[in-house]
Parts: sequence; structure tokens; C-alpha cells
Amino acid sequence: MDATRVVIIGGGAAGLAACHTLRKLGIPVLLLEKDDQVGGRLGGDRVAGFCIDQGADFFCPSYDITFRLCEELGLPLRRSAMNLGWYRNGRWVVTRAGNPVLASLRGLGALRALGALSPAGARFLFKLLSGLKRQSEHLNFSSDSRLVELDEGESFGEYLDRLGAPDSLRVTLKGFLEMTMGHVEASGAAYMRTYLSEMLLKHSELSVPPQGAGALAHALAAASGDSIRVSTPVRRVLMNRAGQPHSVITDDGPIEAVAVICAVPATRVAGIIPDLHDEVRAALGTVEYSSGCRVVIGLDHPPLPSGWHGALYPEDDTPLLLDRSINLPDIAPPGKSTLDLLVGRDRAEQLLPLADEEIKRRLLDDARRNRPPGSALPQDHEGIFTRVYRWQEAVCMGPPGMFRAMARMRRELARDGNGLFLAGDYMGVPSVNGALASGVASAEQVAARLQNSGAPLE
Ligand SMILES: Cc1cc2nc3c(=O)[nH]c(=O)nc-3n(C[C@H](O)[C@H](O)[C@H](O)COP(=O)(O)OP(=O)(O)OC[C@H]3O[C@@H](n4cnc5c(N)ncnc54)[C@H](O)[C@@H]3O)c2cc1C
Repeated sequence: MDATRVVIIGGGAAGLAACHTLRKLGIPVLLLEKDDQVGGRLGGDRVAGFCIDQGADFFCPSYDITFRLCEELGLPLRRSAMNLGWYRNGRWVVTRAGNPVLASLRGLGALRALGALSPAGARFLFKLLSGLKRQSEHLNFSSDSRLVELDEGESFGEYLDRLGAPDSLRVTLKGFLEMTMGHVEASGAAYMRTYLSEMLLKHSELSVPPQGAGALAHALAAASGDSIRVSTPVRRVLMNRAGQPHSVITDDGPIEAVAVICAVPATRVAGIIPDLHDEVRAALGTVEYSSGCRVVIGLDHPPLPSGWHGALYPEDDTPLLLDRSINLPDIAPPGKSTLDLLVGRDRAEQLLPLADEEIKRRLLDDARRNRPPGSALPQDHEGIFTRVYRWQEAVCMGPPGMFRAMARMRRELARDGNGLFLAGDYMGVPSVNGALASGVASAEQVAARLQNSGAPLE
């Protein structure tokens, strides 16, 4: 084989980071994306002067590779802490940005409504927070996170039981994760505690580019220029007898490759690469995702009460409501706003097969049932535009044992050294940062392999 082109399958955060890194190293690379635009779950749409995040919408303070790439690509970051209304026990309470849920005296009413002021609640919170602080070195999303050392096969539900979480506080803690992430009690305790650590202890440090998280995907795509081919699904990766990938099959025919980085969700890998080792296939089988659905409506007025960035309904399946234009004014033209409606859990599964208009109608119906006081939620047919995003694989749920299985799998693949690399959020701590970090790491491994083999560049 004399062509030394590296082929990347999938143009989400992982694939884009791999592509950008290989180009910087001067290695010829071709990224093939099945959809008509790149970004995947970090995708950003531009509609009528609005910037829309299709999936990910904020970065946690430990996102080291994300921040490095933003800096490298000239993307500034803006703090994204939010004032949130919570609908609990039939009434609305508000928690303020910069005053994490558990702090301020001003928030006593809110804390009581959220279940934090009972003796059992206080005991549980003390245990939870001291545990998070003690293990904060592990509980983060950074590229060198040692979360695998805490992955002892315990689920988040078992962890809440072990710490004696009272029901009311349990709803609060699970609820805000579940609204976008699905049934988190079945997720790994280590992973969910990482979210809690970042959200509760470092709430005010969440950040995002002024034009939304999708701006990072746009910037990575722009930096990757002609290395990207969209609307090109890869059907199959072909391996030789030694188990080395040599070409990928697309609808336009085969493309030769000296190495392949497969950067699609874990659930899709075996369909594209049937010749995977049993151990790798079994490890991939441990990865699970939630489903999700997001509706974004462009408006000429703010939809939520003044000063609110979002409204949460942790007790039921009402969508999470966000007006992102409040802390990110650049995402909407002057005087305009956006309303995001986000839902996970079984509700998302029910909605995914429906038509856009029906999804919008049902979610707005749910939201209007207990509308925040003084809100101006749109009517069904209102909106400068409406976009609906469906995610069969939304957020990787990090089930108990997944991190250990992935660590074993990484060792296995490295031992094989056969030119097949896997990248994606599930290869790190699932998040934008985990995905970007895995993309960068796989590109660096490919570069080292090519250097060792002395293969000539195309
Ligand atoms: C609604 C929602 C909100 C989220 N919020 C956050 C957040 O605030 N912060 C955060 O850190 N994370 C968040 N996440 C998770 C985060 O977006 C993901 O962890 C991350 O973007 C995953 O990137 P990836 O590259 O691993 O996968 P993906 O983004 O899924 O990329 C895979 C790509 O492969 C392509 N593909 C699949 N099959 C093929 C094929 N056969 N041929 C070619 N291409 C193929 C897909 O089209 C896709 O573009 C959120 C996700 C969702 C859905």
C-alpha cells in the first residue's frame, strides 16, 4: 500500500479534533461525514441571523482540551451560569447564578422547596459534598481524568441509596440531570458524581463561546478545509488478513487508507467494522446512550420571566426551557430571543418518530401546563423559525463498569497496533471534552505509528 492517507469516519467533536490535529502534523487526512454538515452532537446551525446549538451547549471548568482548541482557533469564551426557575411541589422557586443551589441565605425558600433543609436532607448533602470535595481530583472531565479508578460498578441510584438521599432532594439532584440525560439512576455513580461536582461546586464557571458551543465545531471545520467530505456515509471498513484496515466503502466506491479513525457513537461501530475482535465488541456493548430531543424557536420577545435563563421541571416529563439569548446575546439578532425546549428520558423516545410540528406542539403544551409566572411562551404556530433536533444517541450514560471496560479496550487496541483507532466521547469521560480529547489522542497515535513505520506520505 503506497497511499498513506488517514481516513476519519464521523465529523463530530472527536472526528473534527482528530482531523485538525493530523493536518497540523502535516499528515494527509480525509474525514467522511454521513450528514450534510459536520458537528454531530456539537453541531451549530445558523438560521435567520440566529446561532443554534443542536446538542451540547456549555463547557465545564475542567474541559482542558476544549479550552486549548478554543484559544488556538481564536474563540473567546463567556461565562454561562444561569438563574433557574424550578417547579417543585406546585410552586416556582428560583436559584441564582453565582449562588450555587446550596449556598445563599437569600435562597432559603428555594432550598426548602428543593428538599435541602430537612435534617435528612442536610445530612445527605453534607455526605455528598464532602465526598465530592474529597475526590474532586478524580471527579472531572479533563483529558487526564482518573475516573476509571472510581468506577467500582456502583450505579448512581445505589449511591443515592447508600448516602440516604431523601426523596425530595433525590428528585432535585436527579431531575436536573435527567431532563437532558435520561434515566440517570442507572448510570455509573462515578460519572454522575462528576456532573454533580462540576455543577454544584463550580456552577459559576461554566462557559461557552459567545455564539454557542457549535461555534467550536464550525471553527474546527473551517481549519480542516478540504479534508472534509460531507453527505458521505461509510458503509464498511475492510481489513486485510492481518486484521489491518486498508479501505473504507462509501456509496461512491472504496477509499484506500493506511489508518482509520472511527469516530462514530459506540453503538454504531460494529455495524461499520464487522471484523472487530470479540473483546472489543463486548467492551463497546457496555456503552449506553440516552435519547434526546431539542426544539429551538426564534422569537421577537423573551419567553421566560425577566432575569430567568431557564425553567426546570424535575418532577415530571415537562421539557427543560432555556432562553440562551439572555447570557449569550450574540446568538440572536438585537431584540430577539430563543426558546429551547429539551427533553430526555422516555418522553424523548415517544417524540422522536413524530413530525416536527407535532413535537413542537406537544412540548409547548407540556410547558404551558405549569407556565412560569410572567412568562410569554409562544403559541403553537408562533416563531421566526422552529428547528427540531432528534438524538437517538444523545448523552453517553457511562453505566457502571463502562470506564473499566473502555480502559481495557484501549489497552487491547494499542497492543494490536493494527491501524484501527476508535475515538468518541465514550473513549474519555463522556462530554465534548472527552470527545475532543479522544480525537486528539487518536491522531497523535496515528502520527506515531506512521512515523515508526516510515511510510511515505501521499
Ligand atoms: C441535547 C444534547 C445536549 C448536550 N449537552 C452537552 C453539554 O452541554 N456539554 C457537553 O460537554 N456535552 C453535551 N452533550 C454531549 C456531547 O455533545 C457529546 O458527548 C459529544 O459532542 C460527542 O461527540 P462525538 O464526536 O463523540 O460523537 P458525535 O457528535 O455523535 O459524532 C459522530 C459523528 O459521526 C457521524 N456518523 C455516524 N455514522 C457515520 C457513518 N457511517 N459514516 C460517516 N459518518 C457517520 C455522525 O453523523 C456524527 O456527526 C450533549 C448532547 C446532546 C445530544
